Amino acid sequence: MSQTVLITGASRGIGAACAELAARQGWDVVVNYQHNAQAAQHVVQAVQAHGRQAWAMQADVASEPDLLRLFANIDQQCTPLRGLINNAGVVDVPCRVDEMSWPRLERMMRINVLGTMACAREALRRMSTRHGGQGGSIVNLSSAAARLGGGGQYVDYAASKGAIDTFTLGLAREVAAEGVRVNAVRPGLIDTDIHASGGLPNRVRDLAPTVPMGRAGTAHEVAQAVVWLLGNDSPYTTASLLDIGGGR
Ligand code: NAP
Repeated sequence: MSQTVLITGASRGIGAACAELAARQGWDVVVNYQHNAQAAQHVVQAVQAHGRQAWAMQADVASEPDLLRLFANIDQQCTPLRGLINNAGVVDVPCRVDEMSWPRLERMMRINVLGTMACAREALRRMSTRHGGQGGSIVNLSSAAARLGGGGQYVDYAASKGAIDTFTLGLAREVAAEGVRVNAVRPGLIDTDIHASGGLPNRVRDLAPTVPMGRAGTAHEVAQAVVWLLGNDSPYTTASLLDIGGGR
């Protein structure tokens, strides 16, 4: 039977790679994005090339009204929701904590933490057997920064991902008997646009030699772990935090 996975922030980078791989594994895919409708449309086409259905749906995960609209559209248009990849996330420019503005902190936490938690809430209302659902799987995108702390660069980002780790562990145990598995992937240094968006376009080139494997990872390499956790090949895996970082 066809089933849908919602991937937040799927127009580019790791989310886009997850969309294509999930389609290959038989999932229909909601390609959420914030601004880049054209990129989202390319991802929709990539999913459709694998014979699956795909829908590009705009929503800012930091906005509850946007999220409620997103899930209502999924209810109306898609095959049953059985998966959520909480991928949308942002960094900011390097900054010490003693220089961080309130708007910066608020944006970081609203997108990375509140967005993830609210999407999980809405997905559970549809997937948990407690609510009459058929079960499902949630994969949260954390970061190696949750372990490393981000000192001197973005402690706020690292702390937001620490929150994702704790949320994953607690939620996984809360809903383990309701047919829903919850896991997180903690990517290390991955070659995507996110570094340029934080004002460091050369970050991958500069830091790659510090990775034990001597290189950055690719979005596809992260997606392989995410989609494994999402699907039926990991039926006894829940409350796990999987590091995909080349040893970093
Ligand atoms: P990216 O290349 O910057 O792509 C970000 C994606 O998120 C885009 O699709 C963007 O949509 C979307 N997005 C941003 N803000 C959003 C919002 N408020 N609402 C909805 N969508 C939003 O990022 P990435 O490197 O693939 O990172 C994906 C996830 O992996 C993030 O959670 C990140 O923290 C985590 N991660 C990344 C790395 C790394 O080195 N790349 C390492 C560890 C963890 P638009 O295209 O519309 O802007």
